Amino acid sequence: MFPRVILKGTMIKKSQQKKRTSPCNYKERLFVLDTQDLTYSERRCGKKPMVKGCIELCRIKCVEIVCSDVPIPCTYKYPFQVFHGNHYLYIFAPDNDCRQRWVRALKEETKQNNLVAKYHPNFWMDGKWRCCQQTEKLATGCNVYDPVGFASKKPLPKLPDPELRVHDTGQSTVVALQDYSPLGDHDLPLHKDQSYTLVNGSHTEWWLIKDASGNTGYVPSTYVAEKSASNFERFEWYNKNITRAQAEDLLMAERKEGAFMVRDSRQAGVYTVSVFTKAPGSNGEKNPRVKHYQIRQADEGEATFYLAEKYLFSTIPELIHYHQHNAAGLITRLRHPVSQDGGCCSQDVPDPSKEQWEVDPEELTLGQELGSGQFGVVLEGVWRDRQVAVKMVREECMSDDDFKDEARVMMRLSHCKLVQLYGVCTQRSPMCLLFELMENGCLSEYLRARRGSLTLDTMLAMCLDVSEGMAYLESSNFIHRDLAARNCLVSKNNEVKISDFGMTRFVLDDQYTSSQCSKFPIKWSAPEVIRYCKFSSKSDVWSFGVLMWEVYNEGRLPYDTRSNAEVVESLSAGLRLLKPRLAPQPVHLLMEWCWKEKAEDRPSFAVLLHELASL
Ligand code: ADP
Repeated sequence: MFPRVILKGTMIKKSQQKKRTSPCNYKERLFVLDTQDLTYSERRCGKKPMVKGCIELCRIKCVEIVCSDVPIPCTYKYPFQVFHGNHYLYIFAPDNDCRQRWVRALKEETKQNNLVAKYHPNFWMDGKWRCCQQTEKLATGCNVYDPVGFASKKPLPKLPDPELRVHDTGQSTVVALQDYSPLGDHDLPLHKDQSYTLVNGSHTEWWLIKDASGNTGYVPSTYVAEKSASNFERFEWYNKNITRAQAEDLLMAERKEGAFMVRDSRQAGVYTVSVFTKAPGSNGEKNPRVKHYQIRQADEGEATFYLAEKYLFSTIPELIHYHQHNAAGLITRLRHPVSQDGGCCSQDVPDPSKEQWEVDPEELTLGQELGSGQFGVVLEGVWRDRQVAVKMVREECMSDDDFKDEARVMMRLSHCKLVQLYGVCTQRSPMCLLFELMENGCLSEYLRARRGSLTLDTMLAMCLDVSEGMAYLESSNFIHRDLAARNCLVSKNNEVKISDFGMTRFVLDDQYTSSQCSKFPIKWSAPEVIRYCKFSSKSDVWSFGVLMWEVYNEGRLPYDTRSNAEVVESLSAGLRLLKPRLAPQPVHLLMEWCWKEKAEDRPSFAVLLHELASL
């Protein structure tokens, strides 16, 4: 009898990464589930799809969604796993419904198999299971596997008692601190900054809320903040009943840049943020210390909280969430919440020598200088028969503890239009970072050197390359923060790739990181970045508009002779960079779209990519 097709659809498959050192990649595949096999094929223009793999259903031991706590580095954000033989296959669906459909159908077809009793709810990554930290890939799972259930296995609370529901309805409003994509059928999606009605907040971890259209569902309680409350005990950063001296002891013991907590001030009803930093003091010397910032209220009695700069929030959790992503006047971003009873709440960085990103200095040969930048010189090098660019990081320039934390995230970002980070060598001083070698150097120099000879097609192709890489960063929820032609590099095939993404967060030079200071890239910055250091993918879009302007002006500097202050003034008056002589009208219209005053009026990179591709 012929097998019957049950489901068919395009999803993304993660490479199996047979060797730990081989890079992960994500490929779009056409998946077909029939009554015998799960097959995946590559789609080819005008030809039959080419089969790339086939799993016999009888070999499958577990199918379940993956509850990820890390950003998903591909465009489809809903992962599930198929454990077959001794292999784990990770598949990413475009939305939750699609994922549920596949998981449900696969479970149905495999429920009579020899299944596992327990499975791992999170990814196998960097040599360990993220859920239980076991380092053996075939180690027994840590959650009970339910072969017939299909919803998420995270602990959902019991439904609230109906009495309480009636009682609580409409009592209080909550604001979403961040987006939330439902993992199970009982959840409600959250959209950052939108308001919802709290229906039941009696459970510590999951709250029942209602959206503007009347849909109700559960969300993690730490993803929302009540507008009218001062009960922060559910947040890992809040320490009740702790003195200033105790806070200092705990944070000094942690010794991590940006380790922080919120505590009650001596003055009743007032809160203080205490944060540890190693940033050089005013005398330029390294000086590990704890700084304390009182959370202030703009107007007595009004819910308008702020910390260092006057950027106001209606709740304290919103303010903390913002400063977890932006220093905005603080000595450092609030990076690692520290709690009285558990030390640092975020995962500790494992011993770097055991990490896949650690490069053995013996394997690295250094060559001639390629250039120099913010962090120090960049040398040519050879590592494992591969040509690389080696960024030697001067110690006083970079917050290296934080960088090591982030390097793992950055290494997982992998796209043909991003300059790939291969690894970090922390065992030598200065620490160095290994990147893909880009033979034609930085884009701004490349443009200047070829003035008068670049065609309009080449210029458009450059903008397309960058928009493609940025659309990937946007979909990975990763903000570049310093996009400009000087931070793009050109390969030997004249392809443009994005470099230095996210790196400004590790710069220890105040002149560079504060929007008030001389080295801050004002001329590439969106108004909300200049005013409040509010970075987002939409502030990257503004910078991309300036980058397009640089391309069509063959590497000229924007607002050439004007000072930063003059630029800020003309932007506030609504003025914008003029149309480059070489830019066709539709390209100029896109630039102007990127420079809309309000971030929400600017296009996303996905839209820009589409628009540029259709020119
Ligand atoms: P920093 O991040 O320290 O400011 P840059 O990334 O700007 O340093 O690099 C300084 C210079 O080194 C660049 O202008 C370029 O000429 C060269 N360079 C940097 N990275 C690479 C690379 N991956 N391949 C080739 N050259 C590079």
